[in-house]
Amino acid sequence: MNQRDLLVIGGGPAGAAAALRAARSGVRVMLFEKGPHGRDKVCGDGLTPRAVAALNDLDLSIADAHRIDGLRMIAGKTTRELSWPTTDRFPNHGAVWPRRRFDTFLIDAAIAAGAEVRFDCEALPVLDGDRVVGVRVVGSGVDSETFTAPFTILATGAQGAAAKMLGAERDPDEPFGLAIRAYATTPRHAERHLEACLSLRDEHGTPVPGYGWMFPAGDGTVNIGVGALSTMQGFKKLNLNTLLDQYAAIVREPWGLGEYIEKPRAWRLPMSCVRRHGPGWVAVGDAAGFVNPMNGEGIDYGLESGTLAVDLFLADVATASQAYDQQVGERFDAFLRTGRRFSFLIGHPWILRTGLRIAVGTQTTADITLAVMGNLIDGQTPGASGRVMRLADRSLALVDPLLRKTRARS
Ligand SMILES: Cc1cc2nc3c(=O)[nH]c(=O)nc-3n(C[C@H](O)[C@H](O)[C@H](O)COP(=O)(O)OP(=O)(O)OC[C@H]3O[C@@H](n4cnc5c(N)ncnc54)[C@H](O)[C@@H]3O)c2cc1C
Repeated sequence: MNQRDLLVIGGGPAGAAAALRAARSGVRVMLFEKGPHGRDKVCGDGLTPRAVAALNDLDLSIADAHRIDGLRMIAGKTTRELSWPTTDRFPNHGAVWPRRRFDTFLIDAAIAAGAEVRFDCEALPVLDGDRVVGVRVVGSGVDSETFTAPFTILATGAQGAAAKMLGAERDPDEPFGLAIRAYATTPRHAERHLEACLSLRDEHGTPVPGYGWMFPAGDGTVNIGVGALSTMQGFKKLNLNTLLDQYAAIVREPWGLGEYIEKPRAWRLPMSCVRRHGPGWVAVGDAAGFVNPMNGEGIDYGLESGTLAVDLFLADVATASQAYDQQVGERFDAFLRTGRRFSFLIGHPWILRTGLRIAVGTQTTADITLAVMGNLIDGQTPGASGRVMRLADRSLALVDPLLRKTRARS
C-alpha cells in the first residue's frame, strides 16, 4: 500500500517541480509538505529570466505573475535603469510572483499531473544503513506511517531535521545570507522594473554587503525587503528589522509606501551544503545550498535542480544519485563558488564601496553587473559579460585563501 516509485519531502518550488516532472512521466510520486495547502514562504518573490526559462521548460505559464522588464540599480547618488539582457538561452523578462500564489500554482500543477500530495505532514527519511529507503510521517496523529521508494528527493528548504539526518548541512566555513521582507501598498505597484539599493548601511554606518529591494507585485502591493551576507563586519549584531525600517524610510516618499500589510518576516539563505547526495537520495534547491550569493536568488536553482534530479531518476535509478551530484555540480558549482568568494570580498567595507563605484559607474558596467549577478551568463558566454565572469572566476580563485583569512570579523 505504501510503496511508491519516488518520494519528495518539501513542497516549495524545488519539490513541486520534481513532483510535477515525475508525475507527468507516469511515475508514482508522493510529496509531503509540512505546511498547509497555500502556505506562504518568506521571499522577495522575484523571478529572474533564468527562472522564467525554468518555468518555460516545465511548460508552465506565468500569466498570473507580474511581468518585469529589468532592474533599477541604485548605489549612492547613482541610479541605473537596466533592461534584462537579451540572450539565446533566457527570455528578456522576469516576474514578481508572490510566493503564496506561486507555490500554490506549482503544487496544484503537480497534483493535476497526478502527484499525490500530503499537506500538514512532516516527513523524515527512513534509513537502512546509509541508504534512504523511504520516509516516515511524523506528527498530525498519524505517527509512524511509513512510505517506501527506491529514491527520495530532499526539498526541505533551508536546513531542518530531515536534512540534518542525512548530513545535508551548511558548511560552517562558507557564507550564508539572512533577509527580511514585508508587503506594503504603493501606487507604483504596476511598475515593470525591480529596484535594488546596493549601498545600504546599518545603524552604525557600516556598509552592508547585500541590498534593499522594492519588487512591485502588480496587485496593489510591493515586496519590500533587505538582505545581508554573513561576511559582513558585525553581522551577528545586525538587526534586520532596524535595517528594514531604515530602508523603508528612504523609499517611503518616492514609492508612496503605505504601512506594512503584515509583520515583516525574516529567513535564512543557505549558500553551501556539505553533502547533497547519498544512496537512494539527493537534495535539491535550498536543501542543497543552491542560493546565488550575488543576489540571494534561489527559486530558479530549486526549479532546475528539482527537474534535473527527476530526469536522472527516470534515466536510471541506480546511478541517479551520483549522476545528479556530478551534473548539478557542472551546472552550478563554479558559479556559486565564485559567488561565495565574491561575498568574502565585499564583506570588506572599502572593497564594497570601491566595487560599487565600478559596478554602477557606467551603463555598460551596470549591464554587466546585472548579467553576472543574475547568472544569465556562463563560461561560454561571448562578449564583455562572459569575459568579466571568466576573469572574476580566475582572479577570485587566486585570492581565495587570502579572502578567507582576512574575512571581515564582527
Ligand atoms: C527574505 C528572502 C527573500 C528572497 N528573495 C528571493 C527572490 O526574490 N527570488 C528568488 O529566486 N529567491 C529568493 N529567496 C530565496 C528563495 O526563497 C528560496 O531559494 C526558495 O524558496 C527555495 O525553494 P525550495 O523549494 O528549495 O525551498 P522552500 O521554498 O523553503 O520550500 C521547502 C518546503 O519544505 C517544507 N518542509 C521542510 N521540512 C519538511 C519536512 N521534514 N517534511 C515536510 N515538509 C518539509 C517546508 O514547509 C517548505 O514548504 C529569498 C529568500 C529569503 C529568505
